[in-house]
Amino acid sequence: MNVTKQAVCDGHTEVEEQELEQINRFSRAKLSAQQVYTFTVRLCDNEVDRDGERFAPETLEGLAELFVGKSGIFDHQWSAAGQTARIYRTQVVDEPGTLTRAGDGYRYVKAWAYMLRTKGNEELIAQLEGGILREVSVGCAVERTVCSVCGARVGSCEHRKGETYGGKLCFTSLEGAADAFEWSFVAVPAQPKAGVMKSKRAHGTRSLKTLAEREGFDEEYRQLEKQAALGRSYLDALRREVVRLAGLGEQSVEHAVMERIAKKLEEDELLELKRVYSARAQKQFGLVTQLDHGVRSETVEDTDGAFLI
Ligand SMILES: [Zn+2]
Repeated sequence: MNVTKQAVCDGHTEVEEQELEQINRFSRAKLSAQQVYTFTVRLCDNEVDRDGERFAPETLEGLAELFVGKSGIFDHQWSAAGQTARIYRTQVVDEPGTLTRAGDGYRYVKAWAYMLRTKGNEELIAQLEGGILREVSVGCAVERTVCSVCGARVGSCEHRKGETYGGKLCFTSLEGAADAFEWSFVAVPAQPKAGVMKSKRAHGTRSLKTLAEREGFDEEYRQLEKQAALGRSYLDALRREVVRLAGLGEQSVEHAVMERIAKKLEEDELLELKRVYSARAQKQFGLVTQLDHGVRSETVEDTDGAFLI
């Protein structure tokens, strides 16, 4: 079974000689301490989470090994080549003084990761430093999901997650580390309130959908999905228009570069750029641009036609 969980990035660590040796096992060129930025991430633990699931204490040991060498990516906004981090070392850390809801001593998989200090990574490193990039989503696979009360495979017994049976909390135990996939950063707003960093966020669209279905909000969920799709297609159209307009001027930015920039911009920024580029195009070519609000209603073909001359 594949599992996706949220985790937390703990921040920057100093690079020591010994660390560097471990990092260099994964890089083609020999890297110096100045060339790498390192930080630690709590990948997963054995606490019972909001889904009523937890990794069995032994599963964590298997996962720790499997995650060594795995790449971390920086969500869809940062998909450019080279913008990845890599785990070069992991360790299962025990905090026996802290008990989980299941009554076990708390333990978690700590991972040390590095990324290159390149020009392209400057902004990401600043965001890691500033604590803006903190939440990490981790994907892995386990062999079995087991009922904590009776030990049967999940779904084959009467026990329900979250209920207590004879004083025993029922949860799903994730057992047998089978595989570790990539991990990825999820951007969160700056200045998170205290405590937010430790909270686990809802697990993406897939489980939100499941949750909506379970609670009888299917129709609302479908409506929201539709509206979100509309919003995305509007933003896509706006991005394409900005890229097109940007390409019209004499000293225009290269198309591919502009496409990448536009992908990272939000609506207000795109609208502002569109306004500036439209004004410039109008001045240079006497051109009326598409997607303007109000009376003007040229179609894409019309405006593009003006350039076929
Ligand atoms: Zn059971």
